[in-house]
Amino acid sequence: MPRRTLATEITAAGTALHAGTAVRMTLAPAAAGSGIMFRRSDLGVDIPARYGAVTETNLGTVIAANGASVGVVEHLMAAIAGAEIDDMRVILDGPEPPILDGDALAFLALLDRAGVSEYAAPRRGIEIRKRVEVEHKGATAALEPYDRLVYDMEIEFPSRAIGRQSYAFTFSRDGFRREIAPARTFGFLQELDALKKIGRGHGASLENTLAIEGDRVVNAHAMRFKDEFVRHKVLDAVGDMALAGAPLIGRFVGRRSGHALNNALLRALFADPSSHAFVNLM
Ligand SMILES: [Zn+2]
Repeated sequence: MPRRTLATEITAAGTALHAGTAVRMTLAPAAAGSGIMFRRSDLGVDIPARYGAVTETNLGTVIAANGASVGVVEHLMAAIAGAEIDDMRVILDGPEPPILDGDALAFLALLDRAGVSEYAAPRRGIEIRKRVEVEHKGATAALEPYDRLVYDMEIEFPSRAIGRQSYAFTFSRDGFRREIAPARTFGFLQELDALKKIGRGHGASLENTLAIEGDRVVNAHAMRFKDEFVRHKVLDAVGDMALAGAPLIGRFVGRRSGHALNNALLRALFADPSSHAFVNLM
């Protein structure tokens, strides 16, 4: 399998989910082997899309370098991994990619319009050789050996709008586009005021977020799947695992895991050299 980048660059504008400000984003081709690199054009700082650059995981995954950061990278990273793009630059004039529709489908549409170009260099993958697990307050995330890439996620929320949901996704480009990419981000209305007081959630709207109030979904008419919430958690995990820097070959098992555990899992994986091996993808 050859490494993939974009055929040409493409620009989109939108709103930052937390900052609420207008942001302009350009996705551009990058040299073979350079991986995914973010650039804050307003600050002149490059930030690698790697697990080691993650500095915050409370309200989305934040990466930072040299005093500059980019928040909520996970939905864009999921689209990049879902499209199997290896090398790309993400140029932003603000603190987050635009939230667009709150899914990964809107980012896939941009990647489709830019088109894909293949390099002669082979794609490298990370084969899981040994089970690695992290745990926090009863929530767990694990990577285990498997011959394909599979995401197996289970979530449980007290709100009956969500309850307990599980989803197993065997990765393919088409499957990601169909089953996972359309799933929207979601949030609880009772938390929104508190979020806004700390300067977050200012770009959240009923157009980009499924809003839960008590046991009901306020914009239920906008739902695309009955189990959209767990599918979105798979989307988040795909985006967070993309920060490994190369596609994984193995089974991800998440039980109420979120951005913090996902990042802890990658740190645990790379802390143990016997847990994985880099291989050329066939
Ligand atoms: Zn998300």
